[in-house]
Amino acid sequence: MKKTVFAIIALFAALCLAAGCSVKKPDVPVDGPSPAEQGIDYLVLVNKLNALPDDWEEKLETTKMTNSLGDEVEVESKAYDAYLQLKEALASEGVYVDLDNARRSVAEQEDLAKRFTEKYGEAYVAKYVAVPGYSEHHTGLALDLYLNIDGEDVYLNEDMEQYPEIWAQIHAKLADYGFILRYLDGKEHITGYSYEPWHIRYVDSIDIAKEIMSKGITLEGYLGAVNETDVTVELGESKIYSEEDLADAVSQIKCKFASFKGCELHVLRYAGDDCVTDENLKWVNEKDEDAGYTRVIEFISEFHSPVEDDGQNAWNIDEEYTGWQWWLARTEDGGWDVVDWGY
Ligand SMILES: [Zn+2]
Repeated sequence: MKKTVFAIIALFAALCLAAGCSVKKPDVPVDGPSPAEQGIDYLVLVNKLNALPDDWEEKLETTKMTNSLGDEVEVESKAYDAYLQLKEALASEGVYVDLDNARRSVAEQEDLAKRFTEKYGEAYVAKYVAVPGYSEHHTGLALDLYLNIDGEDVYLNEDMEQYPEIWAQIHAKLADYGFILRYLDGKEHITGYSYEPWHIRYVDSIDIAKEIMSKGITLEGYLGAVNETDVTVELGESKIYSEEDLADAVSQIKCKFASFKGCELHVLRYAGDDCVTDENLKWVNEKDEDAGYTRVIEFISEFHSPVEDDGQNAWNIDEEYTGWQWWLARTEDGGWDVVDWGY
């Protein structure tokens, strides 16, 4: 629980800071009408910290359809046309998809959060379900797909996750129709959501969709709302920790690092088993006497400080920092807390 709470706090800190960054937007999508002609901005960013624009609903044009489950689904009209083409192209390869969810109003989102809390609990909802007003589904541009396999509809998240090859086939086709995969695996610290193979987003430009998909970046990264660089992770050898232990620690550090405004993380390296001493464990427990930490771990990082001085940061400007330490401690439930960082 603590880990989840930390991750959420870190994410919010990161996105809070990121929200202040300038957002790059191409003037006109190269292969579609301009946003002005269409009314809505097809590159709109709606996430846990960016709410749906106030005038969105009045500009939005939607189409309603009924899916194979008999549910009515409402989609932004251009996104729906593109979806139909995608669906047809997939069907020609023997992959059958349908639309589970697309546009949800704020009231519907409130209702969904309530139902999912009852079914899956609060921790699940915090991870997968957006706060009303902050769901990309309000835009009408986010589509949740479900599968039809051997004539059977497969629509529960836990069932759909069993078909990674089918999702890979679907994802390979998205950009050709102006869609991107929105919640990438391993990018939870940026998007705020765990991997969702079914949640696709219409951006109304094949070129932009191809750029995003081929680089494997998030919409946040494409729009410049966050720095999304490739980080070299060196886990080395450990007789104490499994690869999973180390990877969990890395993801906690990335979450924390996301709040270092304007900084670019380059390398994260496990400091080695020598850091796991009783003395260090005592030290982290002194930092938080109620935490009851059971293990300690150290990583070393290399990163670049902000290139421009905005007068608000404590870094030496435009400098590569090396040997910067990260200390994490393991909680009783097995998660990692970032407890200290610096030289
Ligand atoms: Zn979705």
